[in-house]
Amino acid sequence: MNDRIERVTTYIVEIPREVPYLGPLRPGETVNRRGYIVRQGNRTLYPTSDRSVVLRIDTEKGLTGWGETYGIVAPEAVRAIVDDVVAPVLEGRNPFAPAVIHEDLYDLMRVRGFFGGFYLDTLAAVDIALWDLLGRRLGVPISTLLGGRRHKRIPAYVSGLPKATLPERVEFAREWQAKGYRGFKFAAVVADDGVEAEMAALREALGPEPDIMVDLHWRHTAAEAIRLIRRLEPHRLAFAEAPCPPEDIAGTAEVARAVGVPVAIGEELRTVFEWQPRMNARSFGIGQPEMGRTGITEFIRIGALCHAQNLAVMPHATIGVGLFMAASLQASSALQKLPWHEYQHSIFTPNLSLTHPTGTRHMGCEAGFYTLPDGPGLGVEPGAEMLTRLEG
Ligand code: MG
Repeated sequence: MNDRIERVTTYIVEIPREVPYLGPLRPGETVNRRGYIVRQGNRTLYPTSDRSVVLRIDTEKGLTGWGETYGIVAPEAVRAIVDDVVAPVLEGRNPFAPAVIHEDLYDLMRVRGFFGGFYLDTLAAVDIALWDLLGRRLGVPISTLLGGRRHKRIPAYVSGLPKATLPERVEFAREWQAKGYRGFKFAAVVADDGVEAEMAALREALGPEPDIMVDLHWRHTAAEAIRLIRRLEPHRLAFAEAPCPPEDIAGTAEVARAVGVPVAIGEELRTVFEWQPRMNARSFGIGQPEMGRTGITEFIRIGALCHAQNLAVMPHATIGVGLFMAASLQASSALQKLPWHEYQHSIFTPNLSLTHPTGTRHMGCEAGFYTLPDGPGLGVEPGAEMLTRLEG
């Protein structure tokens, strides 16, 4: 398999949306001159449109692989890292060694302390594109390269109820329940009537059977989180996500030990080096790797470490055009246990028109389950509409 990387190109894709992510603006929230909102509930910056960074690798023999990473904030940072650091190193190199190349690129910046952040986001996009290239070259889906597809369909939970009031959010959840979905996660930062009231209203409306989860958005001390989660347990909470700030490993572990439901963490963590101390501290029961930040190589290694420690994996899903989402489904389908994968209803399904399948079947999500594409590589690639945007 001789070939060489000729070119690495990035594209910043912007997709307008009617309602900002996490729902309408709350009191005190305004859109700044760059189009960002600071959400008062979690002091975090969000864009008002959906944005992503798409990465394309072309080889001398005319193969193309596609990758993608987070672009919601400062997408030009990823582009600058590709143009100045990554592309010149990759040009001329045999592409058919994604894990080896990932390790080599990580080594370039490790002694400068680039263990995460935009540098690792960039490596995630490169890694996905290289696995895509390898799958296309061999004519098989990435799940085959990872050892085989264990799950033909993947349980999807509805993430976020982006409506302005609690009655509207409850009604929104019921609509998705009627479509066949059995898992629902609400965001504490926009639960204006209180987290316990939100949980109680959802449980009452949805009945005893569905899983209901809460995303606590890293806001609490350990003691606060323990008190809060204990109040939600009588309503049969399924898991509590991100109770404490990401740096507070000991506090998160304290919460995990004190409450009767699993703590879920990890959407912000990119490599096994970031995951391992949290595993060693038993600070979580559910790992939520995000493909747009980890890439395939790290995702699969994180999954293996969780498996070795008997920790569940429920992958995170975020804003993207569908490429890293396809990568997440490919890698998730190769994991041994997969109770849930997050489903961003306001992003995944509307954006399906931006990609088309590389085989005969597209990916999808219906009646509570993701279905996987059957073609080689990621199984999807940018469609005509997205290519026009990329070239424009
Ligand atoms: Mg979250």
